[in-house]
Amino acid sequence: MKIVNNFSLINHNTFGVDAIANQFTSISSINELKKIISSNESKEKIFIGGGSNILITKKIEGLVIHLNIKGISSKKIDNNYTEVNIKAGENWNEAVIWCLKNDLGGIENLSLIPGNTGAAPIQNIGAYGVELKDVFTSCEVLNVNTNEIVEFSKVDCQFEYRNSIFKKNKNYIILSVKLKLTHANHKLKVDYGSINEKLISLGIVNPKINDIANIVTQIRKEKLPDPKEIGNSGSFFKNPIIKKKQLEKLKLNFKDIPNYKISDENYKIPAGWLIEKAGFKGKRIKDYGVHKNQALVLVNYGNATGKEILEFSLSIEKAIQFIFDIKLENEVNII
Ligand SMILES: Cc1cc2nc3c(=O)[nH]c(=O)nc-3n(C[C@H](O)[C@H](O)[C@H](O)COP(=O)(O)OP(=O)(O)OC[C@H]3O[C@@H](n4cnc5c(N)ncnc54)[C@H](O)[C@@H]3O)c2cc1C
Repeated sequence: MKIVNNFSLINHNTFGVDAIANQFTSISSINELKKIISSNESKEKIFIGGGSNILITKKIEGLVIHLNIKGISSKKIDNNYTEVNIKAGENWNEAVIWCLKNDLGGIENLSLIPGNTGAAPIQNIGAYGVELKDVFTSCEVLNVNTNEIVEFSKVDCQFEYRNSIFKKNKNYIILSVKLKLTHANHKLKVDYGSINEKLISLGIVNPKINDIANIVTQIRKEKLPDPKEIGNSGSFFKNPIIKKKQLEKLKLNFKDIPNYKISDENYKIPAGWLIEKAGFKGKRIKDYGVHKNQALVLVNYGNATGKEILEFSLSIEKAIQFIFDIKLENEVNII
């Protein structure tokens, strides 16, 4: 385990921000992780996986620890289900592909989400009608204060829309994640977005989990900017949830406001629509801006700093508050 001083994180965040960490290390075992936590004197310790959900806005005075613990295993639970144990450093999409190769179903709709498996519970990753919590059973966690390893159940994780206990309490480092997947009688979710439409256009009548994964992958490639080509962290903001009364009021001025009923009282509004309506879609200032096709995605065209992107996001937040009286919340973790 090597510690590098004055390390550029440009290749460790998909925003492509060239921020410096005073110290950087990559660990590939629990023992290495425990050792570095107990021996390194830096007060500030920042843990990262694939860096696809962070915006680094400053020089990091402390130590950045890249979690790179690898390994996947599985065991049959019964005639229908298999439990898969994926270590934190496994790339999420590669883990999905591993499961597909082993005919394990449940996470095909989560294909091509960037980042590593250890971060998947942090915001309860979700896409195309499926969230991690739908297949999650437990995860192994290191408490950095006590250096003890504990198991967190689904209830312990307090999963919500793009949220979990790990967003609130930064003392827990996820070491591995256990999922309950089907090896028979797969339950496909095809009724979200344009999955069904694509199945029809491809003439697929009895889809397999691989078909869903291929379609989701194709749609994502068409819709989302590839961080290898243009720096971004996916959706910058969460979709806000507002009360029915406020929605009724907004409809007086914005008849076409899209909304999705969450409960009798609560409605989700697409943040991308709000941002587009406020005139930010495609807007570019120096090397930062809002993507031309995806208003929810803030981008770095090359040399933007994290601070510039953060300040720009605050100006979007302010405009949305002013126009719609809606408070946007970041999905991306600001460092
Ligand atoms: C193009 C694009 C599309 C995306 N699409 C989606 C999508 O459809 N759905 C979705 O939910 N997300 C999406 N995301 C966001 C991102 O892919 C996920 O949030 C992913 O889980 C982040 O993983 P990571 O390893 O890159 O995390 P990082 O960015 O490295 O870290 C994210 C946060 O988790 C913490 N962290 C990382 N690993 C651990 C660990 N093992 N234990 C404790 N804390 C940890 C970090 O300190 C940080 O606060 C997208 C991002 C991009 C760039």
